[in-house]
Amino acid sequence: MSDGIASAKERLVSADGATGRLTIDLSALARNYTNLCARVAPARAGAVVKANAYGLGVERVALTLYDSGCRHFFVAQFSEAAKLRPLLSKNAQIFVLNGLQPGDEIACAEHGIVPVVNSLQQWQRWSGIAKLLGRSLPTVLQFDTGMSRLGIPVEECNAMAAELSAQNNIEVLFLMSHLASADEVDNQQNNAQFVAMKRIADQFPGFEMCLANSAGIFLGKDYHGVLTRPGIALYGGAPTAGKSNPMEPVVSLEVAVVQTRTVPVGSRIGYAGAYVAKTEIRVATIAAGYADGLPRSLSGRGAVFFMGTRLPITGRVSMDSLTVDITPLPEKTLSLGSFVEVLGPNQSLEDLARDAGTISYEILTRLGDRYTKLYR
Ligand SMILES: *Cc1c(COP(=O)(O)O)cnc(C)c1O
Repeated sequence: MSDGIASAKERLVSADGATGRLTIDLSALARNYTNLCARVAPARAGAVVKANAYGLGVERVALTLYDSGCRHFFVAQFSEAAKLRPLLSKNAQIFVLNGLQPGDEIACAEHGIVPVVNSLQQWQRWSGIAKLLGRSLPTVLQFDTGMSRLGIPVEECNAMAAELSAQNNIEVLFLMSHLASADEVDNQQNNAQFVAMKRIADQFPGFEMCLANSAGIFLGKDYHGVLTRPGIALYGGAPTAGKSNPMEPVVSLEVAVVQTRTVPVGSRIGYAGAYVAKTEIRVATIAAGYADGLPRSLSGRGAVFFMGTRLPITGRVSMDSLTVDITPLPEKTLSLGSFVEVLGPNQSLEDLARDAGTISYEILTRLGDRYTKLYR
């Protein structure tokens, strides 16, 4: 397909000049959401759309999820919530997981955003604003059940319960906590955190719990509470380590070839001459590097694919490009303007993450903004 109609068509698709195409399958996203809803029913599934919906574009992602019935959206920061709020109808709630930062209180209240309260001090500030505004404000109480990251410490539960019963201007929607090891089914920490959360819930009669991220959903019914908080599984990532992935892929990434060449035996390729050709080989330079979210740790380890053929990365990943060995392909199969598969049917997020020594989350959230995003 070197200079044929197919490659001319491919060039047309990236008419904005971008040499990388990140395709996001919104119907697969919707099916993943529906699949999770069915797994957790009668509990509900919210959606974690922090970090620009794990890099996929929060606007299209959130609207697709809303249309699929999602009404609970979780972000990390107030600024993300403020950006999302005008896009969603009022019957959708937006929660700020990182809590209530000093200075955000009034804006949070006025935009109708729900801060997760992570400490007694945050509770007092939120309740102070409710008094000031003369109306009731919503929140979620997050407890630390063993991750030591965010949430009210277990030792402060009594004080928190006392605060709650002493006032009526804060409406607590549910109790939450986060699991540290949910992607490992047999990890003892899962049950320990579940038991801790149960004990906390006993101190707050009448309030339901929200505990499970994607992996937590697959730990079983006990963990579902009233509401779940999937992120990575919506976007096609594998929820559980070492198990086959029940989710549909959502993301594919193709990157253009910007040069091909024949490299004589003994030649060095890339920075530091890290790769030395042991025989004559053919290589292609493709237009994405670590600035586009392909980690430098893929140097000499990872691969891309072309028409199902694996093309190993030769030498170091540069900022804007990397080179691959195309000798396995018949000559002239691939040329300037061809697109190779970085993520797709031959290479999953988990495959690329494993080669890069990281996790699917980091691969997804770092995919660069030089790619054209195509929504299907
Ligand atoms: C990011 C996050 C999630 C989503 O986790 P996934 O593993 O992507 O499903 C859920 N809850 C909290 C508190 C988070 O920070």
